[in-house]
Amino acid sequence: MALKIAIVGAGPAGCILARLLLYQIQPEQLRKDKTVEKSARSIDITIFESEHSVDFRSQGGSLDLHDHTGILALRKAGLNEEFLAHARYDGEAMSWTDKSLRAYLKLSGNTGRPEIDRSDLRKILTESLPEDIVQWNKKLVGVRKKPASGNENIHGADQWELEFMDGTTASGYDLIVGADGAWSKVRSSVLSDEKPFHSGVGGYCLVIPNVKETAPDMYQLVNRGTYFTFDGGDKPHSGRALIGQQLSNGNMTVSLWMACPENWQETVEYDINDGAAIKQFMIEKKYKDWHPRLLEAVRHADENNVVARSLYMLPVGFTWPHQQGITLLGDAAHLMTPFAGEGVNLAFEDAIHLCDAIKETLAEKNGSSVEKTLDNNVIAFEKNMNQRATITQSHTFEQMVDWYFTPGSPGNNIERVILRNLKFKSQGSSLLLYNLTYPFTAAMIYTGYFIYKRFLLW
Ligand SMILES: Cc1cc2nc3c(=O)[nH]c(=O)nc-3n(C[C@H](O)[C@H](O)[C@H](O)COP(=O)(O)OP(=O)(O)OC[C@H]3O[C@@H](n4cnc5c(N)ncnc54)[C@H](O)[C@@H]3O)c2cc1C
Repeated sequence: MALKIAIVGAGPAGCILARLLLYQIQPEQLRKDKTVEKSARSIDITIFESEHSVDFRSQGGSLDLHDHTGILALRKAGLNEEFLAHARYDGEAMSWTDKSLRAYLKLSGNTGRPEIDRSDLRKILTESLPEDIVQWNKKLVGVRKKPASGNENIHGADQWELEFMDGTTASGYDLIVGADGAWSKVRSSVLSDEKPFHSGVGGYCLVIPNVKETAPDMYQLVNRGTYFTFDGGDKPHSGRALIGQQLSNGNMTVSLWMACPENWQETVEYDINDGAAIKQFMIEKKYKDWHPRLLEAVRHADENNVVARSLYMLPVGFTWPHQQGITLLGDAAHLMTPFAGEGVNLAFEDAIHLCDAIKETLAEKNGSSVEKTLDNNVIAFEKNMNQRATITQSHTFEQMVDWYFTPGSPGNNIERVILRNLKFKSQGSSLLLYNLTYPFTAAMIYTGYFIYKRFLLW
C-alpha cells in the first residue's frame, strides 16, 4: 500500500517536499516516458493549490538561496543543474549604506548566497513534478474531523477531511502537510488559534523596467546584486529602507519599507491605488532627505506596478500541540519578515527533514505499524523544525529591530549587526569557535569601524 500524502500549497515549500519525496523514494514516478500505476506506488502525493495555474500571479522579486539549506535541498532533489541554469552568482554582490550613500559594508565574490528569481524557482519546481500531481484551483477552506458514520470510531491519521472552496472534500491520507503559507488554513483549522501579527513594518514593492537603459545609475549602484539602504531615523519607530534588487529579466525591484502601524494603508494622505501619487509622496515627503541617486530609483519605477505590503510574522518560537496525521512546514509553521533572507531557505531545510522522516518510515519495518512509526517520525521532525526555526526567527526579528527600530542605524549599530550575523552563521559546532573567539572578533570589528567611521567615512 502506498503512503498517501496530501500537501496543501504549491509554493516553494510544498513543491520541494513533493519533489524530494519522489526523487528519493520512487524516482520512476518522475519519468516522463512511463507511468507508475497507483497500485505500484510506494508513495502517492497530491498537492492542492488555490491558484489557477503556475503563472497565475506575478511571483515578484528575487530570493537568495544558501549553500547548506536552500541549495542543499535542490541538490538532494536532483535539481542542481536546473538551479545553476537560472542562478545568478553575480547577484551575490551586496551593499549596505545609509540614506546618504555612505557605505558600511560591501560584499562581493562567493558569499554562498546566489540569487534566483522567484518565478524561475517556481517554474523549476513545478516542472520537475509529474503533471497530474498538482491540483490547481483547489482552495482549502478548512480541515475538519471526518464525520463518523454509524458506530465507527475514527482516529489516527485517517480522521481528517480537507474541505475545498468548490464544495469538494478529500480524505484518506496518512499525512496532510500544510505548506499553505502565512495564513495557513491547515494551521488555523485544527492546530492553533495563533494568528500572524503585524511586524511593525510595511511599504511598497516597485519595479524599474529594463533598468540598465532606464536607470543606468541605479543599475551601476546595485551592481547586479542587492543594494540595502537603511535609516533608523532619529526617534523610535521611524526607520526606513530602500532596497534595490536586480532581476534576471533586466528589471529591478525597488522595495520601500517603513516602520508603521498595522493600519497604515488606511491612514495615508494620498490615494493608495495611484502609483504616481505614491511615488510622488515618497520622493517629495517620506524619503525627501535621501540621496538624489536613490530617489531616482523611485522616479524611474513603473507607476502601474506598485504593490503595497504589510509584513506579518508568527511569534518567535511558535509551536502547536501535535496532532496525528497533520503537520506544517515553511511559512505556515514559522512566518517571519524577509529581513534576514531566510524564509525559503528554512522552508527547504524543513522539506529535507520531513522527507527524511517519511523515508525512514518506509524503511523501518520493526514490527510497529506504519501509522505509529510515521507519527513518531513526524513528532521528531516538528521538534527539530521548531528548534531550527526559533533560532532563525529570533535572528530575523533582531535584524528588523536593528534596521527599523533603532534610531541612528546603521551608523550606530553596524558592529552589532555584523557580530549577530556571524553568530547566526556559526550554528552547530562552529558556535563554540565563535564563542571562544568572540572577544577578539568583537574588538577587531569595533576598532575597525571606529577608525573607518572616524577617518574614512564621508
Ligand atoms: C518581500 C519578500 C522578500 C523575501 N525574500 C526572501 C529571500 O531573499 N530569501 C528567502 O529565503 N526568503 C525570502 N522571503 C520569504 C519567502 O518568500 C517565504 O519564506 C517563502 O515563500 C515560503 O514558502 P512557502 O511555500 O512556505 O509559502 P508561500 O510561498 O506563501 O506558498 C504558499 C502556497 O500555498 C498556496 N495557498 C495558500 N493558501 C491556500 C489555500 N487555502 N488552499 C490551497 N493553497 C493555498 C499559495 O497560493 C502558495 O502557492 C521573502 C518574503 C517576502 C514577503
